[in-house]
Amino acid sequence: MGFIVAIDGPAGAGKSTVAKRVATELECTYLDTGAMYRSIALVAQRQGISPIDEASLVSLARITRISFSPLTPDGFQRVEVNSEEVTAEIRTPEVSQLTSKISSIGLVREVVLEQQRRIAYEAPAGVVLEGRDIGTVVFPYADLKIFLTAGEEERARRRYEELKAQGMDISFLAALEDQRERDRRDSEREVAPLRPAEDSVTVVTDGLTVSEVVERILSLCRERLALREQKHQSNQIERKDLLA
Ligand code: C5P
Repeated sequence: MGFIVAIDGPAGAGKSTVAKRVATELECTYLDTGAMYRSIALVAQRQGISPIDEASLVSLARITRISFSPLTPDGFQRVEVNSEEVTAEIRTPEVSQLTSKISSIGLVREVVLEQQRRIAYEAPAGVVLEGRDIGTVVFPYADLKIFLTAGEEERARRRYEELKAQGMDISFLAALEDQRERDRRDSEREVAPLRPAEDSVTVVTDGLTVSEVVERILSLCRERLALREQKHQSNQIERKDLLA
């Protein structure tokens, strides 16, 4: 099993930017688990499936084919759903809200969880996953768990600027309200709620540059990689002793 880094946290904490850079530095696969839930929500929206029609949503999750292109050096990743590019379309505020409703359904999460684990098992060098429940549910034995967060207004400001840059017509207050609602739903749901894993390291990003956050996480990765190597070596010595 390759090296596993779990990066969880609320909306707008900067998880994507940081996780992509960490994955690039470690030469690992990057997995945006939010994009998987967003893709299912987009298809549900297009097909007019109600967010409370659990049976149809579970079937939809099972047949929806989501694929990611490799990360480019400047951090772009193309997302395709059933062979159609949806990279920008899955990021609208409407899809964000619908995603957080759909992702509270336990059976939908089971389908997505299985896909997440398969992608990670197939990544030889390891994988950096970002989401809400990676350290608590998807990979409870991850080599490193980060809970990335920042003050509510700081996070909303980042999201607001991101949406503005994409040409969306949204006010700061609307972005803040949107984020609050999504975080509340993600934290209060019964299945896999957003919360830091007990053995996670919390990184508060207010006032830090992206490079400072990435450097902090990379130095934790180096420590954990060294630990892994040590364990591997002592296992080999033990095995040799047993065979002798
Ligand atoms: O991370 P992102 O903002 O793209 O996630 C969109 C939504 O997908 C979240 O608000 C949350 O409801 C859901 N999600 C989740 N579990 C994950 C990743 C995302 O429930 N591991």
